[in-house]
Amino acid sequence: MTDLIDELAAVLGDGLIRDETQRAERARDTWMRSEILKGEGSFELPLAVAAPIDAGQLSEVVKLCRSHGVKMIPRGGGSGVVGGVLASADSLVISTERMTGLRTLDSHNLLATFGAGTNGYEAEMMVQDEGLTIGHWPQSIELSTVGGWVATRASGQYSTAYGNIEDVVHSLEAVLPDGSIYRSRATPRAAAGPDLRHLLLGGEGVTGLVTEVTFSLRPLPEQGVRQAFHFEDFDTGLSAIREVIRPGWLPPVVRLYDGRESWRHFKDQLPKGRCMLIFLHEGPPGFAPLQAAAAEDICVANGGLAAAEEVVDAWFDSRNTVPTWEELLAQGIMADTIEIATDWTHLPGLYTAVTDAISAVPGVIAATGHTSHSYRSGANLYFTFAAIPADRADFVTTYDTCWRVAMEAAAAMGAGLSHHHGIGRMRRDWMAEELGDGGLAMLRAVKAALDADNLMNPGVLIGDDPA
Ligand SMILES: Cc1cc2nc3c(=O)[nH]c(=O)nc-3n(C[C@H](O)[C@H](O)[C@H](O)COP(=O)(O)OP(=O)(O)OC[C@H]3O[C@@H](n4cnc5c(N)ncnc54)[C@H](O)[C@@H]3O)c2cc1C
Repeated sequence: MTDLIDELAAVLGDGLIRDETQRAERARDTWMRSEILKGEGSFELPLAVAAPIDAGQLSEVVKLCRSHGVKMIPRGGGSGVVGGVLASADSLVISTERMTGLRTLDSHNLLATFGAGTNGYEAEMMVQDEGLTIGHWPQSIELSTVGGWVATRASGQYSTAYGNIEDVVHSLEAVLPDGSIYRSRATPRAAAGPDLRHLLLGGEGVTGLVTEVTFSLRPLPEQGVRQAFHFEDFDTGLSAIREVIRPGWLPPVVRLYDGRESWRHFKDQLPKGRCMLIFLHEGPPGFAPLQAAAAEDICVANGGLAAAEEVVDAWFDSRNTVPTWEELLAQGIMADTIEIATDWTHLPGLYTAVTDAISAVPGVIAATGHTSHSYRSGANLYFTFAAIPADRADFVTTYDTCWRVAMEAAAAMGAGLSHHHGIGRMRRDWMAEELGDGGLAMLRAVKAALDADNLMNPGVLIGDDPA
């Protein structure tokens, strides 16, 4: 590999990172399973980290790796939670950390282009300086990059009104697995065959490396209203949401917590067992109060009792604060989250099936859920589970079992197996369930056409091709 390292150094200069600590920092993402295994000493470092400055330099890096048959692992902020970044000793991590910053801002056409490695929060602040917003607020906004958002088909907390990442991305630039550069045309819409951007939206680094992202922006809202109601049970709260969304009301934030999460977050604001629903409405003057009045009528008609606006303030102020896996593991607690989606008909049954299945796993101390992204046809469910396995040696088995029973319960009900965290390594074994045999064959064919040697993030999304 000395030849490759020398050739990379000639292309990248300071952008080739060989230092052991820095390689370790970039070797994986925030997957709980990696964190457990790291604690057990099972952890490989990549050959090196390449940090190119633009698509041209990256293209040269990719071609060099191809010619040497070396695996490439794209990495953004490393906040992914399903094992999309996991270096092996024979791989090169390609980091977007030097492809950063605002490239262009066109406030007339509401467009802003960023280098793919730009931190999400910094990107949002740059457009807010001009009175605009991307409107994409994942809980990990301060930990993730705009390129990572695209690669994982991320969702923000305001998605019910503003859409998920695929709705706010206007155009893209990427380096494909053969080193060629792809640029989508910057036009509001096209009827020119399949939308090729979607090979990269959710590509998880397997179909190419996103180098630049152009967002379709909005003016910052001029008025907002915060509202909360609590309901007798989760199902009644879901019915209320369905009735709010159905006629076309679109509060950016719509979150309903089950009884246990409601008590965990808002115990001073509701009786034990009831379920809290919070709304955040915003828009041009007059719009938010009108929408809030409609939501109130529907919630009250469903037996909802109004809660203080401070409930929403409390959520808003703490919405991005969560303990790290390291902190939990240090206390002997293993935890994770699983997000899935289904239609309104199946949501109540899916909620029960998944929480019951996880709760039955030995060592599990909690399995709770909420919904945070609503659509006319259904919504997501976001489960959180925690376990205190009897023995350190049981952590991985307990973790894998919780995931397996949740995926099996969801698959049995025909639910979508990932709403927004993606597939990574964690869900790849269920891709046939998710896509069907025909869909999986199509995805494998695309992968083989783009990357015949399976060098771009192998093992992610579809696993290694058994062929
Ligand atoms: C506390 C916490 C909260 C979270 N909240 C949310 C949330 O609200 N919504 C949500 O959707 N997700 C959430 N996530 C998951 C994660 O933040 C998202 O998946 C995010 O989009 C990943 O971005 P990243 O830059 O950190 O990517 P990474 O973790 O670096 O990579 C993720 C995957 O994308 C690939 N990749 C990264 N950059 C590129 C690129 N430029 N081109 C091609 N492939 C690339 C990697 O190979 C990997 O497969 C959360 C994670 C944490 C830890």
